Amino acid sequence: MSPVPPILELRGVHKRYTVGAGLLARRRTLTAVSGVSLRLERSEVLGLVGESGCGKSTLARMILGLEEPSEGEVLLDGRPISRLGRLERGRLVQPVFQDPYSSLNPRRNVAAIIGLPLAVHGVGTAAERRDAVAEMLGLVGLAPRHAEAYPSQLSGGQRQRIAIARALVLRPTLVVCDEPTSALDVSVQSQILNLLLDLRERLGLSYLFISHNLAVVQMLAGRVAAMYLGRIVEEGEAERVLGHPRHPYTAALLASVLTPDPSLGLPEMRLGTAFPNPLSVPPGCAFHPRCPAVFDRCPREAPALLPCPEGGRAACHLIEQPEGGPPPPRLVQAA
Ligand code: SF4
Repeated sequence: MSPVPPILELRGVHKRYTVGAGLLARRRTLTAVSGVSLRLERSEVLGLVGESGCGKSTLARMILGLEEPSEGEVLLDGRPISRLGRLERGRLVQPVFQDPYSSLNPRRNVAAIIGLPLAVHGVGTAAERRDAVAEMLGLVGLAPRHAEAYPSQLSGGQRQRIAIARALVLRPTLVVCDEPTSALDVSVQSQILNLLLDLRERLGLSYLFISHNLAVVQMLAGRVAAMYLGRIVEEGEAERVLGHPRHPYTAALLASVLTPDPSLGLPEMRLGTAFPNPLSVPPGCAFHPRCPAVFDRCPREAPALLPCPEGGRAACHLIEQPEGGPPPPRLVQAA
């Protein structure tokens, strides 16, 4: 019997864009995603973390089939996504986006919004579709009367519940959650996170959970991958990565959780002034202009993503240093 394939596998995925259109503008290549390889097993939650612009959402769009990789392969359930039909793909992967305000059509009522994927793909009779919508409303904790409401009549939390119901109506195996709580009030965020946890348990879902906020990821993910300028720089069991980060960038992201307001992102730390620019990726380790543990080898040589002794992988020369080498990452809060 052949082994069950992972629900998601990325093999050396790159995404490049040409920018600078027009006769006089110089054409340049923007590399949004660079050589990402990852696996997501069934019923697993993988947290993908990193600052805005690090390539997380581009990666999500390729996993959803909304963009094609420039190089490499995306496999869903062991099959290349490019060879799947729209319905087949829709039954494997669905998105929940950040902003429930803009992702719902204001001119359709809730029943039409949730039932749209079934109608588009011609799944079931009209009566079966009505039943499926009613079931979805119950699953996401809304009352039958909400079926007739319009998005403008609902709260932010209720709208995100509708977006989740719409994502699940085709009964996908994998849900790509791209910052699903960042547009919501803090008091509503935990309700939506608890709903996602509950649905995962009940429906056996796998999540790719994308966020800049490690506090949120910590609540859901069994495994975590950190992205910086299009590359995975650290990956492993959530307990290890969040408890003992081996990459200075992951350590900096983690330190931001300790600030009074985690939504502020990275705290002011001595990470240098060079904010990452995907059009001008620094040579060697791309993080070196901001890294508090930088040493002479870093600007010269890009570190490979190598196994760490305590599990997982990290792309930092420090994990290769013998005893007595440069000191481990030390992050200092600015005065
Ligand atoms: Fe910092 Fe060097 Fe490690 Fe890059 S390779 S994260 S610059 S110590």
